[in-house]
Amino acid sequence: MQHIAKIIIDLSLDKAFDYNIPAVLSGKVKIGSRVNVPFGRGKRQGYVLGIGTHTDFPRELKDILSMCEGHSRIPQKLVKLGEWMADYYCCSREQAIRTLLPRAVRSGKIKHKTMPFYAVADPAEAEIFVAENHERKVLHSQLEMLKLLLNHQDMSREQLLNEHNVSVSTINTLKKKGLVIEEKRHIARDPFHDVQIIADKDQKPTPEQGVALEKLAEMINQPEGRRTALLFGITGSGKTEVYLQCISRVLDKGQDAIVLVPEISLTPQTVRRFRARFGDMVSVMHSRLTEGERFDEWNKISDGKVRIVVGARSALFAPFRNLGLIIVDEEHENSYKQGEAPRYHARDVAVMRGHMENAVVILGSATPSFESYHNALSGKYELIRLTRRVDKCVLPIMKVIDIRLDKSSGDDKKSSFFTKMLYEAVNDRLWRGEQSILFLNRRGYARQMMCDNCGYVAECSECSVAYTYHQHNETLTCHMCGDSIKAHTRCPDCQSEEIKYSGIGTEKVETVAKKIFKHARIARMDSDTMKTAAAYEHVLNEFKRGNIDILIGTQMIAKGLHFPNVTLVGIINADQSLHIPDFRAPERTFQLITQVAGRAGRGDVKGEVLIQTFTPFNETIQSAIKHDFNGFYENDMEVRKMLMYPPAGHLITVHFQGEELNEVSTYATQFMEYLRPACHEKIIISEPAPAPVERVKSKYRYIIILRGEKTTQLRRYIRHYALNAKHPKGVHVYADVDAQSLM
Ligand code: ADP
Ligand code: ZN
Ligand code: ZN
Repeated sequence: MQHIAKIIIDLSLDKAFDYNIPAVLSGKVKIGSRVNVPFGRGKRQGYVLGIGTHTDFPRELKDILSMCEGHSRIPQKLVKLGEWMADYYCCSREQAIRTLLPRAVRSGKIKHKTMPFYAVADPAEAEIFVAENHERKVLHSQLEMLKLLLNHQDMSREQLLNEHNVSVSTINTLKKKGLVIEEKRHIARDPFHDVQIIADKDQKPTPEQGVALEKLAEMINQPEGRRTALLFGITGSGKTEVYLQCISRVLDKGQDAIVLVPEISLTPQTVRRFRARFGDMVSVMHSRLTEGERFDEWNKISDGKVRIVVGARSALFAPFRNLGLIIVDEEHENSYKQGEAPRYHARDVAVMRGHMENAVVILGSATPSFESYHNALSGKYELIRLTRRVDKCVLPIMKVIDIRLDKSSGDDKKSSFFTKMLYEAVNDRLWRGEQSILFLNRRGYARQMMCDNCGYVAECSECSVAYTYHQHNETLTCHMCGDSIKAHTRCPDCQSEEIKYSGIGTEKVETVAKKIFKHARIARMDSDTMKTAAAYEHVLNEFKRGNIDILIGTQMIAKGLHFPNVTLVGIINADQSLHIPDFRAPERTFQLITQVAGRAGRGDVKGEVLIQTFTPFNETIQSAIKHDFNGFYENDMEVRKMLMYPPAGHLITVHFQGEELNEVSTYATQFMEYLRPACHEKIIISEPAPAPVERVKSKYRYIIILRGEKTTQLRRYIRHYALNAKHPKGVHVYADVDAQSLM
């Protein structure tokens, strides 16, 4: 008899405990179950990680007390995935297991929503009542309600009250008379809010899509062989259509599918495409769901009521039990990496989940991450390409403008970041009634405030970064911690009024654009102006309807939006993302230029992309304008190979944070000594040093950067010491495996 359960408690102990399964619970307790157990002097919730017959515990085991309410159980295979995550990402088991279950489900506080439904108790009796009393005016409303129910079988309270103007007292009277019965039923909260969807069917594949589908169908139908494919298709090449048809095949086999998209592109437009094809089989998961909606979506998936989930990062852990396909759209996106523990990368965990459950994984992108492209070239992933746009539109013309050679635009000095060429191009579009997009990857008005007299730069007092100036409310804001103060009118150091703002943000572009394009309708889209989903939808709709001529924005506008009337994209300053001290800066810049350029010329008119830069001959910019991903990859890989940066090697960072600089730096040095024995000659160590942003929210930050090959043992050491060593009280330590940023 298997009666011993290994249970992990909802505390961060990174340890499983053995409990006895009492006879009353036998058969109910399964791997992944949530149970109540005695712990110390109290009661705690825990998750069952395993069930067996053996224990090493020398004394008598305590009994599991009961099952947690709701019986939400994590599928067994997901529990395994959680354990892998804990090991690989060097976090505690609890942190990993907790990620598998949304808080709304875990907390046990959220219940199914119920709604009373009404039906006639006995139809014959109701008919007689109606017939006998049909002339009595006082009974009119009761008779009406009975007739309704006789015609409709049953109706919800909401329907009766709102759609048929029945009063609460009528319902209660009929209940009392025993003519009508009430029944409480579970109903699902509806995150779609009754959006009307027009159904559509599979499109006839283009020849390229046909080839892609054939390969993918083969992978889906054959349980053996490669399970991951990289779908490398330029913007507008019909990747989404390929996803949709693959999902159909998986559903036909009786299996389920997960579609991951970056949170930023999880717009109603995206969701609509999946709902149009698969209707109510689709569940949606994103950060704007209420806890109640999230609870319902999770349960719908767990109960097999839906077959497809479309969602951001966390949707990867949808509790499907017969998973056939995982799609990771825009797989190169940064936001797939979680910023807090467990610091997992959803793309990589997707590949792992696919491997564990023998599901096919499709990674899609127009600008693949180096990691995925590397795996595709080495044969680990199947490489599938889509090189043509479905609408047969040609790629836009890309032009580089050397800002240094063109300072003569507009009428005043402030507009110098509109070169003459860009200014005229926008003006042309205004004349022709076409639309323009202007892109700049920094929000706010000016990058920094500086005193011209003494050189003082306004910096956040908690973080070692300069404040960004926001003009509309005259504030200086820290983009690190969000702190915000009233902008200075005099220098706090020397009292001079010679305050200067340098560097530009979207807010300033908007202000200047309004000045030089007097009659244009202009809107701005960045995280300052788009605080709600409704604001975002509104601007998109206005733009789509042609009520906006120029849309200015950050990367928020770079993502998968289709606007046929946009014929010009201007990149205000391409250097901005290029000169960040991070080995991925060129890769991100290439991606940004390509993505933004993909917004131009989706209609009948050829699009034009103007890239303003101080470094026109930079290799990254040159490759991007030639649409030469492969050349760019080969070139940049040379450097990465030399320095063992991913994907040539693994990259792991260990972070130390605390209020006392001395304590942080001393401990970082000591910690490095713990790791030394696991660092063989194929591992490059960057000794403990202050992080590029040295201080955030008044905490000093130190960082150790480790990279190289064969890192399994090193990871084990890091995990062990990060979780078990006795850190100094004020110092927080964590590891970031496959770190996406070195800041
Ligand atoms: P991507 O995801 O690669 O950017 P989409 O799948 O969004 O491309 O396709 C671009 C446009 O082409 C969409 O409007 C889509 O409906 C349409 N489309 C895709 N495949 C086909 C097809 N085989 N036949 C007709 N239209 C298609
Ligand atoms: Zn000064
Ligand atoms: Zn700050």
